[in-house]
Amino acid sequence: CGIIGILGNHQAAPIMVEALKRLEYRGYDSAGIATVNDGALDRRRAVGKLVNLADLLVTDPLQGFAGIGHTRWATHGAPSVSNAHPHRAGRVAVVHNGIIENFRELRAELDGPWESETDTETVVRLCERFLDEGLTPEAAAFATINRLEGAYALCFLFEGQPDLLVCARAGSPLAIGHGSGEMYVGSDAIALGPLTDRLTYLEEGDRAVVTRAGVRIFDAEGQQTHREMRRIAVDA
Ligand code: GLU
Repeated sequence: CGIIGILGNHQAAPIMVEALKRLEYRGYDSAGIATVNDGALDRRRAVGKLVNLADLLVTDPLQGFAGIGHTRWATHGAPSVSNAHPHRAGRVAVVHNGIIENFRELRAELDGPWESETDTETVVRLCERFLDEGLTPEAAAFATINRLEGAYALCFLFEGQPDLLVCARAGSPLAIGHGSGEMYVGSDAIALGPLTDRLTYLEEGDRAVVTRAGVRIFDAEGQQTHREMRRIAVDA
C-alpha cells in the first residue's frame, strides 16, 4: 500500500519508520523494513500498527544506511508476519504495492516451498532465479519486471549492494526523491515530505536504477529516457 526506499548517509530504519507513519492515512494491516548493512540483507516485520514495528526495532534493531519499507494492505494472503513485506528470497528483497495478476503462472514455474501466500513472493523468487543464472542485480530485476502482469509499484534491494535500488511503476504511482548525496523512493510525495521536495515521478511502465549519484530511468521498452524533476513542497 505504501512504499519508501532510502539510499542515505544515516541509519535508515528510523527514517523509514517516520516515512511509513506519514503513509498511515492510506490504511494498512502490517508493516516492515529491510536494510543492507555491511553488505548483509536483513528485515523486520510486524502485524498491526507501526508502533509494533517500532517496538520490534527497539528490541531487535536493524542497522544500515540503505533500505526499503512498506505498509501492507493485504490483497493475497491474510495479514500476518510471513505475508508482510519486504519479501525476501536469498539475496533479494522487495516491497510491492498492487497486484501481480499472473502470480499463479509464476508460482507454477518456480520451486516451492513458499514462505507466504502473497502474489509478491513470486517477484523475489523469480529475481533470485535470475541472479542464480548469473545476471547482475539490475539485469535480474529488469528481467523479473518484464515477466510481471498487473498493477504494481516495486522497489528491490539486494544483498551486497548498499548503493542500489531498482524500481518499477505500472499502474501504481512511484516517485524518486533527490537529496544531497542521498536518494529516496516513495509511493507518494507525502512519504518523502521532510526528506526532499525535489521529485521525479515515474511514468507508466518506467523502471529506475537508483544510486546515491542519481537515477537512470528506462521506459517500458527498455530505452533510457528522461523524466523532469519537479519541486513539490508537502507540509508534513
Ligand atoms: N498484493 C500484495 C499483498 O497482498 C501487496 C498489497 C499492497 O498493495 O499493500 O501482499
